[in-house]
Amino acid sequence: MPVTAACVSRVTSVSDAAQRREELKADWEQASACQKCPQLASTRQTVVFGAGNADADLMFVGEAPGAREDERGLPFVGQAGRLLDQLLQEIGLQREDVFIANTLMCRPPGNRDPLPQEIDNCQDYLFRKLELIRPKVVCTLGNFSTKLLRGDPTGITRLHGRDEIRTIGPRTLRLYPIFHPAAALYTPRMLETLREDFARLPELLALPVPPQPERAPEPVVPERELAAVAAERAPAPQLDEPGPEPELEPAAPESPGDEQLGLF
Ligand code: URA
Repeated sequence: MPVTAACVSRVTSVSDAAQRREELKADWEQASACQKCPQLASTRQTVVFGAGNADADLMFVGEAPGAREDERGLPFVGQAGRLLDQLLQEIGLQREDVFIANTLMCRPPGNRDPLPQEIDNCQDYLFRKLELIRPKVVCTLGNFSTKLLRGDPTGITRLHGRDEIRTIGPRTLRLYPIFHPAAALYTPRMLETLREDFARLPELLALPVPPQPERAPEPVVPERELAAVAAERAPAPQLDEPGPEPELEPAAPESPGDEQLGLF
């Protein structure tokens, strides 16, 4: 059968998603030993990296893990998480369809607010998730993630329910701030507003992906030239000295990511 352009692009996109998923798992492994915030690293039980579909169109970004999340290593598994599940179900979605992350990956002791330095320390992990998962819509839950991803101090009360196109790192996406489910747990009016804002998500997901920023083209270097550059850069072996130990293949990780990340 002839290999058509359509076949090639489909194969490319499937393997591309698989590769992004592997990179996400590698990031999770690295993040799980993060020591950037000494206080959080010493009080946390687990780093809550985020969980869900590694190729999701919709990503939620909350504030920070609470006690239950810290125990289980998964985001939104307490009361606010149950409300999030219910709201998802009401629009015909499940956790498997989305990716859920937080502004901070570690629980602030006593559930205090994240500190500016902690948000700063953790932000590259979040930006990288956006880059790898490539969601069409990012729904920020509450003030912390909204302010971080908009790069602006405007609060959620003014912004909730209004989508806007934003370029964050290499991706252009639709940002959609809504109230944090924890804020709606005990305030029926807030819950009503959250439900109304949630109800717009299917419509936003059905919109086309916004045009992406132009990427600098990869330099195309003929293979022979690449080999010559590599040879030039390699340290010259010393004559009469034993060669370097052959590099061992890194041991294949026991794929902890799939389960811990709740990856689907
Ligand atoms: N609240 C958050 O912001 N994130 C969680 O993971 C749980 C509760």
